[in-house]
Amino acid sequence: MRRSRQRDAILSVVKSTDCHPTADWVYHEARRRIPGLSLGTVYRNLKVLCELGWVRCYEGPGGVSRFDGAVATHHHFRCDRCGEMQDVDAPVDASLDRQVADRTGLDVRYHVLEFRGLCEGCRLERRRSSGSEVEDQH
Ligand SMILES: [Zn+2]
Ligand SMILES: [Zn+2]
Repeated sequence: MRRSRQRDAILSVVKSTDCHPTADWVYHEARRRIPGLSLGTVYRNLKVLCELGWVRCYEGPGGVSRFDGAVATHHHFRCDRCGEMQDVDAPVDASLDRQVADRTGLDVRYHVLEFRGLCEGCRLERRRSSGSEVEDQH
């Protein structure tokens, strides 16, 4: 009973945002609803929710995973510098899953496609810092 209430709260926190939160972020949000919640409980429940297919887990550089309440196949952009992850509004080729399933006989349920680069904030910051380097040379 108590266990499923925690899981429900964690699920609704992940579903309530499109910022692709880390486990830490989910922990801080969920703890406002469930005082005394531990980070370990959040990790365990996120793992179960991923196994159930109710949330998606994307492992990232440095072992930091990000979670997504949107489980329909969609694509992402991830910033190489700060790790921020955002949805990309690009056409998803659903027939890829079928093509690979037919070719391999594997039970393909979805595919993951990630674009990499610099997010808006990091791009501006880099432009600012490279701009000052140019000024220093004058
Ligand atoms: Zn960034
Ligand atoms: Zn997403």
